[in-house]
Amino acid sequence: MIYRCDDFPKGFNIENLKEYHQEFVKRDEVLTLSILCSLLKNRQDLIDYINNHSHFSIQLHGWKHENYGLLIEEKIREDIEDSLEALKKHFNVRPTKWYLPWNGWVEGKKFAMVPRVREIAKDYGLDVDVVCLGVKSYLKGFKYVKLDQWSQTEGTETPVVYFHLWNDEKLLIKEMLDYKEKNEKHI
Ligand SMILES: [Zn+2]
Repeated sequence: MIYRCDDFPKGFNIENLKEYHQEFVKRDEVLTLSILCSLLKNRQDLIDYINNHSHFSIQLHGWKHENYGLLIEEKIREDIEDSLEALKKHFNVRPTKWYLPWNGWVEGKKFAMVPRVREIAKDYGLDVDVVCLGVKSYLKGFKYVKLDQWSQTEGTETPVVYFHLWNDEKLLIKEMLDYKEKNEKHI
């Protein structure tokens, strides 16, 4: 299971990260951070905390919270390149996954634009992954399904549950980590 935390919006209170990250450490689970790289500017507190602690995996969410499927190729490439540079500079990592904002869903177009973004991202060694389940759905016992009938993309083999530490979903972290139902199986 991949536990994925999205965004660190402006004004994000680092105490939330500290508190809930401890739950992952206690259980020896990895907290995957899906990062908006333009927002790392002026967040040395976040950068330092992440660099000084274990049980993190750094992946890409985007440069900004964009509908990447709607952007021209040149802009997508520019944002990927700026993001990779920022992640290298601040964390010395090269991400392998790109978890698109809104999981690649575009109003009126569903996931139709995902394959195009995925093709571009491949040039940078990034696997665009939009197959996931929100934490509330996960805890309700929703089945984890491959979305390829909508997105025409291959899903990851490792189930992803996503959540945010800046809204009430953070209150579900302990329950999520304790949730032992075998509902992550593909159907
Ligand atoms: Zn997001």
